[in-house]
Amino acid sequence: MDDRDGKIWMDGELVEWRDAKIHVLTHTLHYGCGAFEGVRAYKTADGGTSIFRLQEHTERLFNSAKILRMKIPFSPEQVMEAQKSAVRENKLDSAYIRPLIWIGSEKLGVSPKGAKVHLMVAAWSWGAYLGEDGMKRGIRVKTSSFTRHHVNITMTQAKTVSNYTNSILANMEATDDGYDEALLLDASGFVSEGAGENLFIINKGVVYTPDLSAGALNGITRNTIFSICQDLGLKLVEKRITRDEVYICDEAFFTGTAAEVTPIRELDRIEIGVGSRGPITEKIQAAFFDIVHGRNPKYAGWLSKV
Ligand code: PMP
Repeated sequence: MDDRDGKIWMDGELVEWRDAKIHVLTHTLHYGCGAFEGVRAYKTADGGTSIFRLQEHTERLFNSAKILRMKIPFSPEQVMEAQKSAVRENKLDSAYIRPLIWIGSEKLGVSPKGAKVHLMVAAWSWGAYLGEDGMKRGIRVKTSSFTRHHVNITMTQAKTVSNYTNSILANMEATDDGYDEALLLDASGFVSEGAGENLFIINKGVVYTPDLSAGALNGITRNTIFSICQDLGLKLVEKRITRDEVYICDEAFFTGTAAEVTPIRELDRIEIGVGSRGPITEKIQAAFFDIVHGRNPKYAGWLSKV
């Protein structure tokens, strides 16, 4: 991904894509203390391009930094403008945006005290994360043999770089076994989330999602689904969910900035509902795409023009 034209916003400047480099003694590369965001910009009905829930993503980045005791040397306004400029400068009409904060190569040793916090923002085109086919037919998921982080081992409300080793292990295990994605359980055996997605299940018309004490990230798409459920008159319940509740639910789907709203048709080779995208999931998915593409004026405030 590194040898291409384009610009990356790095520590306050737009640099050539190929020149956006760091030193091998970068602290975060050694000890994993860093945080990032995944944000999307969409082409909107008015012909422009807007970033979806830019403010909330930026706020979560600052919260991740706070949890990690990292001080971002820019204001939230500057970080929002950086994300807009990364889309603009790369002439993208839709984009995946990746802000990342890391600790520099000023020193090594576990304590980062005395080293600088750096920030970069890159943006590029990225289609359906779990495949176009998966968006229509649903994906196949495997319960991971890896446990999701306990809430007091690594901080689960920070989108930290190091949390993703657990996601990578789970995702590789599932995909090596022929599945599309992994579902992780928490340390007590309750359903937590996917490797990079929140989970929702639907049973008898009620929508359920694991509460955040199961170690799931407080997803911005998850929060968007809460509003959609309210608009569609669907009851939404946050609660502890067991693995077998997923087996016997009527519909299930993953949410995330990258994954958007991806139906799940199977868990551990057990068919969920009718074994394809369910009717309520389809409605929620359509409502989601209406919002992000600026076709629902109620949510115009969630769209920031680039
Ligand atoms: N959980 C994990 C582990 C994730 O990586 C993501 C993607 N950021 C999510 C949930 C969904 O979060 P969001 O909807 O804010 O992208």
